[in-house]
Amino acid sequence: SRPVGVLALQGDFREHVAVLRGLGADVITVRRPEEVAAISGLVIPGGESSVMDKLSRTFGVADALKKQIADGLPVYGTCAGLIMLADRIIDGIRGQESLGGLDVAVRRNAFGAQTESFEADLDVPVLGEPPMHAVFIRAPVVAELGDQATALATLEDGTVVAVEQGNLIGTSFHPEMTADYRFHQYFLDKVAARSSRR
Ligand code: GLN
Repeated sequence: SRPVGVLALQGDFREHVAVLRGLGADVITVRRPEEVAAISGLVIPGGESSVMDKLSRTFGVADALKKQIADGLPVYGTCAGLIMLADRIIDGIRGQESLGGLDVAVRRNAFGAQTESFEADLDVPVLGEPPMHAVFIRAPVVAELGDQATALATLEDGTVVAVEQGNLIGTSFHPEMTADYRFHQYFLDKVAARSSRR
């Protein structure tokens, strides 16, 4: 079976590689279109989405990934990775694009300078108990949830911070920074389910 990939253009991709390997997955880093063709799923890490966007277009992986996403490739985006998966970006850098796929609008740096980072315990019904301890760092939020997307978790005020749509998952926060890898496992389960259908 084919390995899963971690987009390794920029950001904390090494942590995701380690988490996925710890869960028993065969993992490669992805920087080029040929690598996109070799994977059965992809994690897009946190970092800086505008830089990741530019590099992904320069290296030619953006077009390859858009095709794979449309074809049903399982992709899990965290933080900047969620921004990369959003169909619409609010407060993007001028000219910033995304791969898209999630029918949402995300607002970058939604918590502003006062609350650049914080932690919260989230109920995530698809993951069951216990609540997920979530770390937010200059995090985006899902400002508009489109009809095609489902909220997986919200803050106490109702702000959506985790979403799913078909084979795509996005979280505002960073599970790779805690010891709770249920979202990574949820992603690997989607990869396994799709592989068994093909
Ligand atoms: N603020 C970053 C961005 O716009 C995301 C921060 C993160 O990934 N921790 O891409």
